Amino acid sequence: MPSPTIIWFRRDLRLNDNPALAAASARGPVLGVFINDPVLRGPSGNNRLGFLSQTLRWLNAEIDRNLVVRTGQPLDVLTKLCEEIEAEAVYATDDHGPYGRRRDTQVGEGLAEHNVETHYLDSNYAVAPNSVFSGAGTPYKVFTPFFKVWKQHGWADPIEAPDVKWVSGIKGEGPPPMPGDVIDLPPVGEEAAMKRAEEFLAERVMDYPDARNRPGLAGTSGLSPYLKWGNIHPRQLLAMLGPDPAEDVFRSEIAWREFYADVLFQRPETAREALVANMARIETDSGAGAKERFERWCTGTTGFPIVDAGMRQLLATGWMHNRVRMIVASFLVKDLHLPWQWGARFFMTHLIDGDLASNSHGWQWVAGSGTDASPYYRVFNPTGQSRKFDATGTYIRQWIPEIAHMTDKDIHEPEACKAGPPAGYPAPMVNHAKERLEALARLEKIKKR
Ligand SMILES: Cc1cc2nc3c(=O)[nH]c(=O)nc-3n(C[C@H](O)[C@H](O)[C@H](O)COP(=O)(O)OP(=O)(O)OC[C@H]3O[C@@H](n4cnc5c(N)ncnc54)[C@H](O)[C@@H]3O)c2cc1C
Repeated sequence: MPSPTIIWFRRDLRLNDNPALAAASARGPVLGVFINDPVLRGPSGNNRLGFLSQTLRWLNAEIDRNLVVRTGQPLDVLTKLCEEIEAEAVYATDDHGPYGRRRDTQVGEGLAEHNVETHYLDSNYAVAPNSVFSGAGTPYKVFTPFFKVWKQHGWADPIEAPDVKWVSGIKGEGPPPMPGDVIDLPPVGEEAAMKRAEEFLAERVMDYPDARNRPGLAGTSGLSPYLKWGNIHPRQLLAMLGPDPAEDVFRSEIAWREFYADVLFQRPETAREALVANMARIETDSGAGAKERFERWCTGTTGFPIVDAGMRQLLATGWMHNRVRMIVASFLVKDLHLPWQWGARFFMTHLIDGDLASNSHGWQWVAGSGTDASPYYRVFNPTGQSRKFDATGTYIRQWIPEIAHMTDKDIHEPEACKAGPPAGYPAPMVNHAKERLEALARLEKIKKR
């Protein structure tokens, strides 16, 4: 009888198209393990922990209640488990994030001392980070050429779930309990992810190029939490896409996720530091007044309806529409002159789909310190964006009941309405035109030095 092998689940919480699981099960019986790592729990808020907790319950049920969950430092937990079941090998999907890489090296070296092999296979991406290079052999810092070479690189077809003989009877803690104060979460698990993907691709992908920018419509896939936890792999989505240009737009969004993972892999420090070093010198505010301004942004009480609607959507659902993520991020950086890292941290606490690479580089793209290829410094006009992308105010009405009665024209700028601003909704906390000039002046200063 071969000795059991451990499959260490991390961000690949699925049974289909899981090459690490398939390779582990090809060796014989498999013990399914999830490690509740305090380092990763720290920055996660209740929404993401709640989604994880429910997903682990789902996975446990799928594998006949044989998932072993233990809390602790991964090397300690795995060393002990390998001893307990006399495992000779641990398999896991490779992790390309800064902490994951350090942890996996440490685990690999530590287990080797106990004669246990570690195999890190595959990745959470269709094309693993560190695979796409220019003709000169350098990684890309802008998206468009990356996308072209990424498509040429190609990816494997998805594989089916293996027939696994799960090891049973090993003691664990069970999935972590649901945090007390948690919002309504979307359905979890592999079937829920696939159902959502199939519905989106059958009914909405053809409208995606335009609808994806309209937060008042259900124009996007809503797949980000499932991609975050690996309930679905991007390969599975890509295999379902055809050649239509609308489908190519969706393909390119999946590639943005892969691009940011690649950028973070090449420059791990950019999780918190500017990719464009000079932009770290731009002056930001951080005193007591700045903290008060931040608080108004966090609570969705800035007096700019589209910004407040976005922040309230985030607080209520753990998700925010991409167009609105860009608007609220621009407002924090360029109207309030606060460090992008403050906003990024707040997003990571509240987002169900919170992902270090997409989040830090989504923020840096907006802040102008990241991968934006635009030759000019973008400053989003929140009111202009609102009129353009939420013309009928549908999205604002959904999240700001105080102004839901206003006309389509007035709702974007309640303070300018003839009848006077509505009671109960704050006046704009800043003058956008003035703050735009201030942002540009701060940029000029670092250009001159
Ligand atoms: C400031 C800021 C912070 C962000 N933080 C995160 C984050 O923490 N986690 C996260 O998954 N996404 C983040 N994004 C990207 C994007 O907003 C979300 O992926 C998207 O809104 C998820 O909704 P969806 O699944 O319906 O997207 P869809 O439009 O249906 O796109 C399909 C998938 O493509 C990927 N994708 C789409 N747009 C982007 C993008 N701009 N960058 C990277 N990947 C993309 C996502 O995996 C998404 O699920 C951020 C964007 C900004 C501007």
